[in-house]
Amino acid sequence: MKYPFELPSLPYAFEALEPHIDATTMQIHHGKHHATYVAKLNEAIVKHPEIQDMELSRMLANLQDVPEDIRGAVRNHGGGHLNHSLFWTMMGPDAGGDPSGNLAQKISEQWGGGDAFRGEFEQKAATLFGSGWVWLVKNEQGELQIIQTMNQDTPISMRLLPIIGIDVWEHAYYLKYRNVRADYVKAWWNVVDWKKAEERFMS
Ligand code: MN
Repeated sequence: MKYPFELPSLPYAFEALEPHIDATTMQIHHGKHHATYVAKLNEAIVKHPEIQDMELSRMLANLQDVPEDIRGAVRNHGGGHLNHSLFWTMMGPDAGGDPSGNLAQKISEQWGGGDAFRGEFEQKAATLFGSGWVWLVKNEQGELQIIQTMNQDTPISMRLLPIIGIDVWEHAYYLKYRNVRADYVKAWWNVVDWKKAEERFMS
């Protein structure tokens, strides 16, 4: 993804993730929140033609190379754009269920099974204080880890490859789940696209 950045279309209809994620939340989340990250990222990058050809993932992996006056904007709004662009493709209708293939085998090796894996993931999602994300990532040694990132910080900045990730900002769930983040996290398993997760794991 390069400047000028654009809001990607959702790969499914706003209501496609019902009843787990409601259409109104998807409309506002995509059309307002994500769109705002894109607009504010463009407002920052327009001031620095020297980085307009740089891939967003490269900027986020090397924030020290981003001009200081826009570094915070790239971290927050660039991270927001990248995280949300990934998030939409990590979910889908007719998804959910259990991981399969090599990823399932690796999860089983490291956690002993899906229940322990989901338990740690849910616990990290429940205990993230404030706004942020919880991710299953692959590190440079090929091992899986479950990590929290605050605000719009992204695993890319830590040299970690995102496999799946859940947005636990209140804007992601508050209309339907109110203050009960744990119910949102449990429902979210029903929309995780494990086929795409396997592709990312193997890349
Ligand atoms: Mn969000």
